[in-house]
This record gives sequence, C-alpha cells and structure tokens, in this order.
Amino acid sequence: MSMKNWSKTSYRNKTALQQPGWPDREQYEKVVRSLSALPPLVFAGEIRDLKARLAQVAAGRAFLLQGGDCSEEFARCTAPNIRETLKVLLQMAVILTYAGNKPVVKVGRIAGQYAKPRSSDTETVNGENIPSYRGDMANSIEATPEARVPNPERLLMGYHMSAATLNLLRAFTRGGFGSLHRVQAWNQKFVKQSPMGRNYERMAKRIGDAIKFMETIGIPTDTPQMREVQFFTSHEALFLGYEEALTREDSTEAGGWYDCSAHMLWIGDRTRQLDGAHVEFLSGVRNPLGIKVGPDHDPDTMLALIERLNPENEPGRITLITRFGAGVVEKHLPPLLRAVKRAGCHVIWTCDPMHANTFSAESGRKTRSFDDILSELQCFFELNWAEGTIPGGVHFELTGDNVTECIGGGRQLSAEQLNLRYLTTCDPRLNAEQSLEMAFQIAEMIRS
Ligand code: PEP
Ligand code: MN
Repeated sequence: MSMKNWSKTSYRNKTALQQPGWPDREQYEKVVRSLSALPPLVFAGEIRDLKARLAQVAAGRAFLLQGGDCSEEFARCTAPNIRETLKVLLQMAVILTYAGNKPVVKVGRIAGQYAKPRSSDTETVNGENIPSYRGDMANSIEATPEARVPNPERLLMGYHMSAATLNLLRAFTRGGFGSLHRVQAWNQKFVKQSPMGRNYERMAKRIGDAIKFMETIGIPTDTPQMREVQFFTSHEALFLGYEEALTREDSTEAGGWYDCSAHMLWIGDRTRQLDGAHVEFLSGVRNPLGIKVGPDHDPDTMLALIERLNPENEPGRITLITRFGAGVVEKHLPPLLRAVKRAGCHVIWTCDPMHANTFSAESGRKTRSFDDILSELQCFFELNWAEGTIPGGVHFELTGDNVTECIGGGRQLSAEQLNLRYLTTCDPRLNAEQSLEMAFQIAEMIRS
C-alpha cells in the first residue's frame, strides 16, 4: 500500500502474525479506544532528535548502544530494577565513548518491552500443554491454562508501567543521576571487586581527573552536557492494537504520524513479511525503525524491505540489527553488506549477538555463552571493516542485576550455576559484570 493510503489502521487489512488471540474482541476494541485517549508516552520532537543522532551513527560519527531485558515484567517495574539497568547502560556507554572517541547514542529496551513473539503457540509444562507466554502485555508467565488466556486489560497495564518507568528514567537522566561527575558512583558493589570493576574504576578515575583539571583552569563543568544524559526508549512493535492506539499526528507545524509508545521501534525476525501487517503499520510512522535480520534474509527481500520502509532513503530511519549466530555470520553478513552498499541505502549496521546464539543447557535452561556472543561481535566488526561499511552499533539483552543466565565471562559461570539466580521469563541476559566485560572487549576493537 502506498503512503497515500496509509492510516494508523490500514494494517488491519493485512495478516498480522504473533498477535495474542484476544478472546473477547469487544473488550479488546474498548481497550484500544481507551489507550487512544491517553497521553502519548514520548513526543515527536524527541523522536526527531533520536533520528538526527542516528543519522550521525549512519555516517560513522556516533555509535549506537541498544540494550535491556528480553522481556520486561510488570512485577519488576521497580525503582532499583530501572536504576540498575540504566546504570549498566550508562557504564557501557561511557566505556565505549572513552575508547571510540565518538558520542554514544543510548537506547534502552525498556519502558514498553512487554510483548514477545514465540516460536510455538503452546508449550508443555509438567506434562500439560498450555498456551505460550507472550509477554506481560498479553498474558501471565504463571504456568496454568487460565493464566495464559490473553487479557486486553494488560495492554492498559503495560501503558501505565511504561509511563512509570519512563518517568523515573527522565528523572534520573535529567536530575543529575546520569551526570558525568558520577561516573564512579555507577559502579555496583558486587562488580567493584571484580577485575572488570577495577578496570572500570581506573577509567572512571581518569575521567574524574580530567573533570577536576577542567574545573581547576576555570572551564565550567556544571553544564547540561555534563549533567544530563540523552536516553531513548525502544521495544519490538508487536501488538499492533497497542501501537495503533499510541500513534498520534504531530501537533507542531512539522506534522506527520509518530508512534509515541517509544522513540524507536523494531520489527522482529518473525514479523517482517513485506505484505504483512507489521511492515504496513511501521511504513507510515516516522520513528526510527530497527529491522531484525536473521539467517534467512536474502539480499533482495532485504532491499525490498528497506525500500518499503524508507523510500526517501533518509539516514537514521533504518537500523539493521543482524543476528546470525557465531558460526555462520561470515556466511550471511557479507552478501547483505555488499547488496545494501551497492544499492546506496543509508542504514546503520548493528549486531545483536544474542538471539542466534541461544541453546539449552542440560538442565533445560535456555542460555548463551559469553564466548559465542563475543565471537559473533568480533566477526561483525571485522566483516564490516573488510567491506568498507560501518559497524555502527550493538544490541544486547542485559540487566543490571546479578543474574546467572549466560555462561562464561570473567567469572566463568558454568552451566551448573545457571540455577543460582535465573530470573528471566524469556531469553537469558548478560548480568552487570558480563555486560561491562563485553563493553571493554568492544572498546578494544574500536579503540582509535
Ligand atoms: C528479541 O529481540 O527479543 C527477539 C525476539 O528477537 P528476534 O526477533 O531477533 O528473534
Ligand atoms: Mn529475546
């Protein structure tokens, strides 16, 4: 459908995969109407600001760090949880800024990452076949058939949780918590004693010394650049009724439609069909868009998708989030890099080294190994450099919490230790220490 025929409901004429089967259609429509009347979560000016920063990433003048939970949970929408996730992202960003000499654009998988695509509609728990968990905005993780019935009231709850999360993020990032004067304070107690924590302390001290020096010679350091952090939100645009309801026409003279549920939205690897509802919906909103790119993307469909979502070839609009797997990235990435370059498309190449490196440990726990994650990342950087394209960013599932979900890393977390603190309801995340270690490894690669 051309833009001329686009509306925030035009996707309804197309096939939408991965939607919860809302049992009561009337109740669902009522919720969508209520949500449509509620205030937007972010505003168009902020979305345009992010897009301008991403245009800098596309040009190689900035770097994108995107990360957060695989799946946020209502029960974990708490101040400590939000604060610790923000802290680890700020720490990673400062490590990458320091090493790469480029501004780092910070985008959380947060304040709305409540909807999950699943490979199977059902799962077997204790011998019983029940509907799959589809994220807190659809049903409950509790493993009973009743708890798994999708409930549209959860969309409203998701909106309120997102608003509360965003409110605290705004307070932290504007109110001094994210100030560069506090770089040392972001280091967590349990990380401080580790080799990674000590690396971080050393770098933080150098930054602290530089700030002190500036103050000594009279350069003001109490400026917004020092005191405030620009932090943006993102999630997978999956449940289209929710996204539709938060899509608003910009009331300023700039105009245009924006999905105000988050600054950036991405299309998952399972819902990127050219003629599907998700692509139709996202083609008409002006947010920056991520596209997950898995192993079965051939260059032609890739180019058709980019053309469909960014016909004007606007830099900053499209971020390709590649997720091939450590063993096969060499096979899949180069043909895509070449095809996109040959076509002259402005895109940001980023690497999600998490999603194609998942496996089940003997205990049945889903996990990922630190070494596989690092290996896919290293290949991603090297393949880009070899093709003369720009490795513009990274995408992680991580938490500031001290969880045991991914194996390996400096502490050599073993498969047997996964049970200690395995908290994710969906995919395994890097813990705070593993996240810092990953950032230091990337820093080594991009050091300039
Ligand atoms: C995700 O990012 O959590 C996800 C489901 O990713 P993908 O669509 O790449 O599988
Ligand atoms: Mn995931």
